Amino acid sequence: MQKLASLNFSNSFHQLPKILYSKVEPQELDQPFLVSANPLAAALIDLDPGELHSADFPRYFSGQRQLPGSQPVAMLYSGHQFGGYNPQLGDGRGLLLGEVSSASHGKWDLHLKGAGKTPYSRFGDGRAVLRSSIREYLCSEAMAGLGIASTRALCVIGSHTPVYREQQEFAATLLRLARSHIRFGHFEYFHYNHHHDIVRRLADYVIEQQFPHLINHSEKYFEFLKSVVNATATLIAQWQAAGFAHGVMNTDNMSIIGDTFDYGPFAFLDDYEPGFICNHSDDQGRYAFNRQPSIGLWNLNALAHALSSLLSKEQLSAALADYEPRLIRHYNALMQAKLGFQQRHPGDPELLGELLDLLAAEKADYNIFFRKLCDFSPAQATAKISDDFIDQQRFNRWAERYRQRLLLENSDHSQRSEKMKQLNPLYILRNYLLQSAIEKAEEQKDYSEIEHLLMLVQKPFDQHPGYERYAEPPPDWGKKLQISCSS
Ligand code: AMP
Ligand code: MG
Repeated sequence: MQKLASLNFSNSFHQLPKILYSKVEPQELDQPFLVSANPLAAALIDLDPGELHSADFPRYFSGQRQLPGSQPVAMLYSGHQFGGYNPQLGDGRGLLLGEVSSASHGKWDLHLKGAGKTPYSRFGDGRAVLRSSIREYLCSEAMAGLGIASTRALCVIGSHTPVYREQQEFAATLLRLARSHIRFGHFEYFHYNHHHDIVRRLADYVIEQQFPHLINHSEKYFEFLKSVVNATATLIAQWQAAGFAHGVMNTDNMSIIGDTFDYGPFAFLDDYEPGFICNHSDDQGRYAFNRQPSIGLWNLNALAHALSSLLSKEQLSAALADYEPRLIRHYNALMQAKLGFQQRHPGDPELLGELLDLLAAEKADYNIFFRKLCDFSPAQATAKISDDFIDQQRFNRWAERYRQRLLLENSDHSQRSEKMKQLNPLYILRNYLLQSAIEKAEEQKDYSEIEHLLMLVQKPFDQHPGYERYAEPPPDWGKKLQISCSS
């Protein structure tokens, strides 16, 4: 276990051409204090858990002190935002502090979000507000708890530094951990600026760091793109199965290794509404829940275009062609497992389609439905869950088909039920729960609700006695929260 002052830094990004980044020191926040620290993330970098509550901890992660061995940089990238190309973005308010190696968990980038202005801040102040930092902190851990690839979060630090959004708020920082901070937009920046040598260099770097098995492959760039396509397809299949809407799938928010990346106005579905738009600023619904699979492909096309100096048109098309079948296959497998089926059956996609139509027509709560379905027994004549439906006849028709389907496999009810409960979460990081935790933090400087949610979302499949209300359907006000990009 390491102390904060002796983390094992190794900063490979500094071996890359200087055009890729600017060296920037974090700008300190006023009177920083700990809002929350996450022992599971600390373990990933071998950080002694005792350090999380030390007096120095908020100083190190608010820019007051520099971690020995870190060499902070702001990365340069661009990207497509809402379909339009923005020629220059870059880390406008976050810094890559360096990479820390753990003996058992490998290498992690440490990225301090909200660290102050950089050469890429444009009109921004370089800061992050407390509410958005809490949102990213909890959702990173919720995704990890659900087994979905994501960046992780070590801590949120609050401060007395005022920042101005629609109203005055206070600045905070978030310490993000990720295997890689390379985005699709990195490749786009250097491609559109005709730095094809840098595109190649960056691809070699990502291959060396993230896909080392490809280093000596004769078609390494082709295999690299195929790996990104597969990782992205897998990720988006997981989002769709979990009912997760990202909200801002711009190419600068797409991780090259297929992590859920850059949490903004995201939401987990409450009611099953396929066209749900979680981002209040997304007037056209470009990033609506049911458009995520096709936007994933759109973004991969943008990446493929940025790699066109390395690969032929035929290779780009061949790599992209894997996306759709991969996503569908993975999604179907996830949904079959959520439904408690052990083997694949030709009628399953249709049975699922009918269910989703029914859930949409009823505006049923997506996750509560699946959790209740875990207790569905084919031996019982009537299913208790049918009480939740307005059109009970329609549900009962579906339930009868589902019952027949379960009988086909003749699986043991209690075993299947237990297995399903490890795939269908009891606790979801609903927006209204987050909102309550944020209000308590902002208005009363009470951070206890963040700890409760962290504990629940890190183990979302288990029962937590005393926390039953967190598993209940959201109140009506909680379903209509407007979340925008301003953070
Ligand atoms: P995001 O919407 O967080 O993905 O950010 C998009 C771009 O805007 C990135 O280049 C960010 O670094 C930049 N950005 C967002 N907020 C700020 C801010 N408060 N100050 C400076 N840059 C920002
Ligand atoms: Mg971003």
